[in-house]
Amino acid sequence: MSRSQPIRAARGMRDILPEQVALWRGVEMAGEAAARSYGYQEIEVPIIEPVALIERVGGDTDVVRKEIYRIQSHGDASGEREGHLALRPEATAGVVRAYFQGGLNQLSQPVRLTTSGPMFRHDRPQAGRYRQFYQFDLEVIGDPSPAYDAEVIEVSRQWLSSLGLAGVSLVLNSIGDGRCRPPYLQRLKEYYRPLKTRLHPDCQRRLEENPLRLLDCKEEQCQPFKAAAPRITDHLCQPCAEAFAEVRSLLDGAAIEYRLDAHLVRGLDYYTRTVFEFEHAALGGAQNALGGGGRYDGLAAALGYPDTPAVGFAGGIDRVVLASPLSEPVKPAQVWVLPAEPGLEAEAARVGRLCRAEIPAVVDFSRRSLSAKMRAAGRAGSRWVAIMAADEAQRQAVQLRDMRSGDQREVPWDQLAVVMAGSLSS
Ligand code: AMP
Repeated sequence: MSRSQPIRAARGMRDILPEQVALWRGVEMAGEAAARSYGYQEIEVPIIEPVALIERVGGDTDVVRKEIYRIQSHGDASGEREGHLALRPEATAGVVRAYFQGGLNQLSQPVRLTTSGPMFRHDRPQAGRYRQFYQFDLEVIGDPSPAYDAEVIEVSRQWLSSLGLAGVSLVLNSIGDGRCRPPYLQRLKEYYRPLKTRLHPDCQRRLEENPLRLLDCKEEQCQPFKAAAPRITDHLCQPCAEAFAEVRSLLDGAAIEYRLDAHLVRGLDYYTRTVFEFEHAALGGAQNALGGGGRYDGLAAALGYPDTPAVGFAGGIDRVVLASPLSEPVKPAQVWVLPAEPGLEAEAARVGRLCRAEIPAVVDFSRRSLSAKMRAAGRAGSRWVAIMAADEAQRQAVQLRDMRSGDQREVPWDQLAVVMAGSLSS
């Protein structure tokens, strides 16, 4: 690359700039608050996990096929293989691993956990789809009751509605379990095989490898065949049908509206029974899902741990921010300390420190003129400026100017913080 080419962010990666961060944090904190109010405990898990954790979970899915960011890690003396690590594409597998590795399976069950953070998928970037994106996660591990499915749906809905999002709808389906799904998939293949040559090439491949994914294909040419495809909900075994009926009745009881959609499936193989998704009307096309989840009773065993039922939700923070009607103003520092002439850096820094006992303070060390500094403080939304020339510094005082009223008076350094905090609280 020539030296004149400025280096830009990697494709599909983006910055969250200061003006967006407050809203961003607000969305994240609303998730934490909703989870906490239902007794979910926070957990942090690594961004880097063994490739095997991700591959075992994904099986033949597209996520594993092409979306994993593998790390060119070094092998080491402990016998770690070279290149056996990857950036996580989702958090659930890591949380389940941590549940066993950290002995949470020994506690009273189920264990309710929540986490949030960046995920990485090497997908084609577009609006609402990034290669590094952020999820808010809920997981309830260790109990098969459909009541937990309904609870996870309720908490995630609480998160979205606490943000004032309108136009959100809940879509619900059941994809059965290891008993009723295989014969259903057989029927599905039989239905699709005669149509194979008319399907999109990805779907031709899915037909034998992962036929459930035929149902959530977004390609135009495959749409006409979906409507007449056999529906999994017509082929559930009795325990799955009863579990589905219970989830629905609990949602009805909680006045949570939903739409049934037999084409809603999850891209990962370990899901069983309940699957759900929150859609947003205003977000375009294929990127309209704000979050989704479901029961994943098969995951623990797929990772080599004892069979353990669980249900969870992953919400897309990026998309919720995009859809959010709120805009949180950037909170500026409330006082700018302005040395009026060069050579007062140490004194100005000290005044800044004294102010910070009570309120956020910025010190303007630049060499621009005092009037330019005043304009900059005004543009930044500062409530006060503390102006100091050499003679004030000598007296250990500043000229404190209220930017709203224009009032200005001399205040000794040691009273500054108290004076400003006092007028904020009055
Ligand atoms: P998933 O883990 O695929 O079920 O995704 C859960 C949620 O994460 C989705 O409903 C989206 O809101 C969000 N999401 C998934 N992939 C991306 C992506 N590449 N960029 C932005 N958000 C995403």
